[in-house]
Amino acid sequence: MRESNKGLLVVISGPSGVGKGSIINVLRERRSNIKLSVSATTRSPRPGEVDGVHYFFIDEPTFQSMIDRDEFLEYMHVFNTHFYGTPRSFVVEEMEAGNDVVLDIDVQGAMKVKDSFPDAVLIFIAPPSLSELKERLIGRGTETAEQVERRFNTAFEEMKLAGKYDYVVVNDILDIAVNKVENIIGAEKSRISRNCALISELSGGSEK
Ligand code: ADP
Ligand code: 5GP
Repeated sequence: MRESNKGLLVVISGPSGVGKGSIINVLRERRSNIKLSVSATTRSPRPGEVDGVHYFFIDEPTFQSMIDRDEFLEYMHVFNTHFYGTPRSFVVEEMEAGNDVVLDIDVQGAMKVKDSFPDAVLIFIAPPSLSELKERLIGRGTETAEQVERRFNTAFEEMKLAGKYDYVVVNDILDIAVNKVENIIGAEKSRISRNCALISELSGGSEK
């Protein structure tokens, strides 16, 4: 007897610099069946970012043609500058193969995913404080002062939507935050509603 074979769709959002990428990296080291959906974006790669690993870095006409072919599960014009989108085929194929898929996407994208996949689990990552968020954004050293300011200001709007999520995890100590995300995934996979075959087996073939 075993738990559900169906993969879970986990959406992780939160303000830029809160530590979503860091949490997901540790999570993937711990759980090999977690697959990270690689988004497409029109922004330039940061130092160290690799095409096809961190993002598919594409130009605007290519992004537009993917929109036209309905190849995105959702897409968004983030920070009024660049496009970001989740390629649909990877998500669907991995879930069908029984793997859990994690999306690191913005708040509006998360709401669109929930519309298409009501079973998706939405986790909002919150900073321990606003001053710590700003320090992390600056400390990462990947944006100009102006971009840091814009991302920090956007954080207020994003945090207003935290109430629409299923779970909230404060990323204070990284390992503890990862434990919490792992626990959420474990609990969600044990939900009765995700384990109909097992329940039927336990009840002798007839669900009561
Ligand atoms: P995001 O993906 O949400 O934009 P990152 O994962 O890139 O954020 O993290 C932003 C910065 O904060 C990085 O320099 C990262 O090393 C650091 N960071 C992440 N989590 C923590 C934490 N719990 N404590 C201290 N620094 C952290
Ligand atoms: P960054 O430029 O720091 O990598 O990402 C900026 C923002 O875009 C982050 O909030 C990130 O979660 C979001 N993002 C990345 N990929 C996608 C995507 O495919 N769709 C949406 N809606 N947002 C995304």
